[in-house]
Amino acid sequence: MESAVKPPGLTPRRPFRDGRRVPTDLRCPRCLRSARPPSWRSPSWHCDLHGGIVPLHPARVLDPAQMRDVASSAKVPVWLPWPLPTDWVVTGLQRVGDDREGTVATVLALTGPNPFRAAKEDPLTAELLVVAEQPGIGLGPRLAGTDDIDPGPALTAAMAESSPHAVVEAGGHAVPLWCLPSATDRAAYVGEAASVWLWLIVLPAQAGALALDGLRMLDLRDPGHPLDVPAGALTPLLR
Ligand SMILES: [Zn+2]
Repeated sequence: MESAVKPPGLTPRRPFRDGRRVPTDLRCPRCLRSARPPSWRSPSWHCDLHGGIVPLHPARVLDPAQMRDVASSAKVPVWLPWPLPTDWVVTGLQRVGDDREGTVATVLALTGPNPFRAAKEDPLTAELLVVAEQPGIGLGPRLAGTDDIDPGPALTAAMAESSPHAVVEAGGHAVPLWCLPSATDRAAYVGEAASVWLWLIVLPAQAGALALDGLRMLDLRDPGHPLDVPAGALTPLLR
């Protein structure tokens, strides 16, 4: 009965491989199925639906040690909007990576007051997910609620139809973003920054333009970033 009260994932099934500890609570970034560790058959992590993958790690509440750890291992930016909009806090950090590939995708979650709350049934809070990912990983598309594994084709179509829907600053560079089709409760803006995809996913959808207006982001991998980042409870959006 003891296992009934333990959170899933705390009891490793195969804790060691080649003398090294193997995490057992990793998931597929595209579908959240459990990721199977590398074996003698295959050097990569495996999803029963998607085959070879780079695994998604559990989301964590932001703290300075964790921030330094992710920032030092990441091949992609860890974008932090800074300064944070008034009354916003960071509500989680999650990464996709393994020993072989390094960290190939990151997402930082932020929560704050809903700038578009007009009726009492409207949500009190708005949420922003900032994703940096290499092509073909699938973290941003799942968080946006789209079936496309890569935003390239949809972005090309959007760019042909319209000027950018928003422009943010990332690492000192202006980054044009286009709004792509997504789940109805959120708005997903996509562009390219530091040679990888940048996704800004906003909930509720109506909060999109205002939440992004004038947003400036720094890369936590760069030296001299602020360590005193206000952190809140982990958002359920990161699973
Ligand atoms: Zn999968």
